[in-house]
Amino acid sequence: MTPLERIIQEVIESEGPIPVSRYVALCLSHPEHGYYITRDPLGTDGDFTTAPEISQLFGELVGAWLLKAWRDLGWPSPVSLVELGPGRGTLMADIWRVAKTDRAFAEATAIHLVETSPALRERQIETLGKLGARSTHHNDLLSLPEHAMLFVANEFFDALPVNQFQKLGDQWSERKIGFNGEGRFTFGLDRAASRLPKPVVGEVPNGAILEHSPAQDSMIMELAYQLREHGGAGLIIDYGSLEPGTGDTLQAIREHQRANVLDQAGEADLTTHVDFAHLASIAQAAGMPSIGGATQGDFLLRLGLLERAGQLGAAKPTDQQRAISMAVERIAGDAAMGQLFKVLGMASHPIPMDGLETGLWDR
Ligand code: SAH
Repeated sequence: MTPLERIIQEVIESEGPIPVSRYVALCLSHPEHGYYITRDPLGTDGDFTTAPEISQLFGELVGAWLLKAWRDLGWPSPVSLVELGPGRGTLMADIWRVAKTDRAFAEATAIHLVETSPALRERQIETLGKLGARSTHHNDLLSLPEHAMLFVANEFFDALPVNQFQKLGDQWSERKIGFNGEGRFTFGLDRAASRLPKPVVGEVPNGAILEHSPAQDSMIMELAYQLREHGGAGLIIDYGSLEPGTGDTLQAIREHQRANVLDQAGEADLTTHVDFAHLASIAQAAGMPSIGGATQGDFLLRLGLLERAGQLGAAKPTDQQRAISMAVERIAGDAAMGQLFKVLGMASHPIPMDGLETGLWDR
């Protein structure tokens, strides 16, 4: 048994079976043994790879979107360029290379990184340092400067803990994690009925699971609140669905393979699919006038992925051109990340949502 498994066992022994979100939070963010706290999980040697780690084209197009949004918002200055969960700092480095092409933007901008992992903070400082870019780290959104903000969150929301509820007969009950006689963590169902923290849409079959993340709700509420107060725009990119729905999407990934969620606590990445319709409804309720959504593939293609890939590949040897085409296929192809990943854009003022469809979630 690992030290973290022992800690979780003690929590269960003293409190009884724990909500799924409590288990996930301990696994990912325990201050000493948490998955993200103890390592750099990215890349081929790690557990998973993200779009910015596959190709610079991803960050360049995100950077172009943010720069265009800044211009459409009337060049607010000063402005914070904020990334939530920046991993190795690769995405922000690619964004910054685009930002620097507009002197007024670069001069108005300060980089702020919301990151809890000491290992990854170091990595981010190193990556951005190579470009001569300075950044300030934050544990959460509350310490960001009270300025206009442009933000991006790629594969960040999926790492925020969710709770699960299951329908049996007419009753919804919360799924909890306990500890059985054989010394293993197990899923169980609370006997008591639970009030659902978000609406269920349409007919739901018996046994269906509904996921809800209080941490994601607070995050999007705080983002919308800060945009409304100080102005700005941003993008949330992640795997998930544009339509509301049910299903158990909690998964563990280790060394690029699926693993058991309840085994090896703290040694595997735990994620869930993001419910973009729910995030959009919160942003809408918070009064965001511009909201748009799309699949990652459509978004990148509409922003000119193929043209930019062509420019990047021009005058390069054929093996490099082939590598660029393969990267394009991975980040935008239907069979790879293009369909599975979705993009949600929002802004504090009515500006064009380039590459995104508006009206998707209008009631
Ligand atoms: N955006 C990066 C990395 C995604 S991995 C990329 O696309 O490559 C998830 C990132 O979110 C990591 O940097 C992790 O340390 C960070 N993270 C996870 N939970 C967090 C939390 N609650 N607060 C701040 N950062 C968090």
